[in-house]
Amino acid sequence: MTLDTTWVTAWMTAAAAVIDENKHDLNTLDREIGDGDHGENMDRGLRAVVTALGSLPDGATPNAALRSIAMTLISTVGGASGPLYGTAFLKAAEPLGDASEIDATALVAMLTAARDGIVSRGKAATGDKTMIDAWTPAVDAAAAAQEDGASPADILREAADAAEAGAVATEPLVAHKGRASYLGDRAIGHRDPGAQSTALLLRAAADTAE
Ligand code: ADP
Ligand code: MG
Ligand code: MG
Repeated sequence: MTLDTTWVTAWMTAAAAVIDENKHDLNTLDREIGDGDHGENMDRGLRAVVTALGSLPDGATPNAALRSIAMTLISTVGGASGPLYGTAFLKAAEPLGDASEIDATALVAMLTAARDGIVSRGKAATGDKTMIDAWTPAVDAAAAAQEDGASPADILREAADAAEAGAVATEPLVAHKGRASYLGDRAIGHRDPGAQSTALLLRAAADTAE
């Protein structure tokens, strides 16, 4: 489909469903290396996002939709991930301006701005065992696909594939940011919950873009 405000709403509706389905798994990942609430936090946030998008005015731009998502996540998710995901969506909106559709170039700019926003807020580097380890490979794969002339849907599929691989690749890492960093070597062997939720959100984006 065309990546417009209807798509943003479809993406978030699908994301809310997949986060609900994976809530217990995300809590379990977070129980192993954090405080066990990541699924709960994301489920609460995505439900609120779907409600908020339902009251967007007619003709709202994708930019306005992404800003609504950002504000809702900041005020409902809490924890470390709420401000980080909130910043991601707030920054993702910026390169879109007043456009009513997101083309391949804008899509890559949007994903890059989201990742850069998380980095500037949370100061995590690649390999610190955070959501950045899903976001950065996703952005790199999206940029490479766009350079090859891929459609927005194909760009998102490449991004989702790379985010999933990135989430799996956090398993052997020691954490250097967030609660998991208090565990030292005991974090080894566990997947980062925020990297996993990032992969789920990007998969929902790809699935709804087809
Ligand atoms: P909390 O740790 O406050 O309970 P959540 O459980 O909702 O918050 O989110 C934890 C996730 O947040 C981690 O799995 C990690 O991916 C992400 N995270 C934490 N700190 C940072 C950071 N500084 N930069 C990027 N991501 C981070
Ligand atoms: Mg937690
Ligand atoms: Mg918490």
